[in-house]
Amino acid sequence: MKPLVAAIVVALALLAPAHPDAQQAGRVTILYDAFGRPSALQKDWGFAALVEYGGRRILFDTGNDAAIFARNAKQLGVDLSRLDAAVISHRHGDHTTGLEVLIATNPKVPIYVPREGAFFKGAVPPDFLAPDPSLPPHMRYFDGNPPEGLRGGTPWSRGNFQITTKTTEILPGFFVLTTRSDKPGTREMNEVSLAVRTPQGLAVIVGCSHPGVEKILETAAQIDTRLYTAIGGFHLVQAPHNEIERVAGLLHDTLKLQRVAPGHCTSEAGFSAFMRRFGDRFDKAGLGARVPLP
Ligand SMILES: [Zn+2]
Ligand SMILES: [Zn+2]
Repeated sequence: MKPLVAAIVVALALLAPAHPDAQQAGRVTILYDAFGRPSALQKDWGFAALVEYGGRRILFDTGNDAAIFARNAKQLGVDLSRLDAAVISHRHGDHTTGLEVLIATNPKVPIYVPREGAFFKGAVPPDFLAPDPSLPPHMRYFDGNPPEGLRGGTPWSRGNFQITTKTTEILPGFFVLTTRSDKPGTREMNEVSLAVRTPQGLAVIVGCSHPGVEKILETAAQIDTRLYTAIGGFHLVQAPHNEIERVAGLLHDTLKLQRVAPGHCTSEAGFSAFMRRFGDRFDKAGLGARVPLP
């Protein structure tokens, strides 16, 4: 081998990622959804995804059925004991039910959750009990001496829950952000989304987008105005045709996303609308899909 060729071979070897995770960096794998290409994975309503980027692994949501979540994760070769963090987008069962599997496998992993009042061990505000000192002690909560730091309970008592109250960089280049729904049926429900910084802008992973996917993306744009892609549920099921077209147009023309990978509650009509707008910049998500990140 000529010296120059040998030097290039050595240089290329040095540039190659040393850690096996680094070779897998740059993708989002869909672990749970009700559509997708034929496979041995089990489809069900709900959402879960694994984000692998820059050697980090973050689980986003946990699906609707713990056993299906566990089986799909295993079949896709996802080791839930090796995670840097987990994110739960919102309290609905189709995103939270696999939490018992996650916590049993990995009790210490930080789980970023929305602020939910009496849930996820959220703090109860001090003025909530509205004391009336004129009452006799046995008619007063805690005999008139409520404990400090009263907290809501949770079905997942062992989870290392971190309540998300504002946009926070949880790992270098990984942000959780929170938005609140003002839509009928989910009014005042908070939802957490995950934004990952890539050289081409943010990749934003969303659960159900109850507050509106455009509201989530506008919040993400405060981190970086360049939005690369949005992956997950855009909540357009049962939305009228003109609303679906409005949202698709907004993401394409105003927010100028380079790509989209809608899934879960985006709706079949929503998939069609986004496919038409984005053409070959539409990434097919769905159960088992691996959506590449730059
Ligand atoms: Zn939901
Ligand atoms: Zn959902």
